[in-house]
Amino acid sequence: MIFLMPAVLEQVRPIEDFLVMPDAEIDAQIEAAREALGPRVVILGHHYQRDDVIRHANLTGDSYQLSVMASQTDAEYIVFCGVHFMAESADILGKPQQRVILPDLGAGCSMADMATIDQVEDAWEQLRDIGVLEQKVAPITYMNSSAAIKAFCGRNEGVVCTSSNAVPLFDIYLKEFDKMALWNPHEELGGNTEEQLREAKLILWRGHCSVHGRFKPWHVDQRRKEIPGVQILVHPECMREVVEISDLDGSTSFIIKTVENSPSGSKWAIGTEVNLVNRLQQRFPDKEIHLLAPDLCMCATMYRIAPPNLAWAMDNLVNGVVVNEIVVDDETKHFAGVALQRMISLTEAKN
Ligand code: SF4
Repeated sequence: MIFLMPAVLEQVRPIEDFLVMPDAEIDAQIEAAREALGPRVVILGHHYQRDDVIRHANLTGDSYQLSVMASQTDAEYIVFCGVHFMAESADILGKPQQRVILPDLGAGCSMADMATIDQVEDAWEQLRDIGVLEQKVAPITYMNSSAAIKAFCGRNEGVVCTSSNAVPLFDIYLKEFDKMALWNPHEELGGNTEEQLREAKLILWRGHCSVHGRFKPWHVDQRRKEIPGVQILVHPECMREVVEISDLDGSTSFIIKTVENSPSGSKWAIGTEVNLVNRLQQRFPDKEIHLLAPDLCMCATMYRIAPPNLAWAMDNLVNGVVVNEIVVDDETKHFAGVALQRMISLTEAKN
């Protein structure tokens, strides 16, 4: 269960004060607040954040990496410029005294929202009713899921996976997964027959990232035709048909390292969020870097964290008011931590 702690209303400076400020004043407010708070605050900026927010971040990275890095600081406040499940992860992994703030509570993740804890518990009961749980079944959730689902996995001998370790983790759990069933949470038995579920080695929850899902196989063909010598580099959240015909696929960190380590003059068409691709273009002017799709592929929910939200959260902190705090209750935190720790142990054992 997740609790959002209301701040003391009479003390909160309203967001409206910041929405009308000119950009330069907003920037100055954020920096002044950061200076006033010093090491008491750490601002985290996910790689997919917009430039006008990322320039204020103390640390940048992907969701898991950022939560780990923040937990290693002595900051009292973690201001997470990312989306809701990321802020929950920071609270799960953070020190007990660290308080996590999400500058806009509307910053969610459409993929995380495609599985609710009620739907997952209902699916588990349906599998129990038809005897599937009599075999050894481990629930695995992607990092982009609620704390409640991570805790469900922790309680049921399951694990969390990220885009970096999903493949080795699946190798540990499954020797063969040719028999796969797709679970649609809106249908009885997920839209499968009892027999299909009993025979399946992998039951895959139906969900996707709406940002990475916008890259299509024809984009790959088109880029290869337009740019001779281009290499196609995609995030594994892209659709399977795209990943299969790409040259390379991997997590956000893998994408950054691959471009960093590539020789000058190399050509890349990258299938991931547009803000990250734009920053790679700026960082490596000696390389030819394109977004895989010609149109904008932006994470719209993450975009909700705008400079006025950050300025608002920071200014209130200076005044001793914590707004938009994300607090995961102790039991959920414990079991979500179990699933995350299991992921770390299994990944280390595999390496
Ligand atoms: S890019 Fe996709 S998975 Fe990542 S936060 Fe946005 S919607 Fe969620």
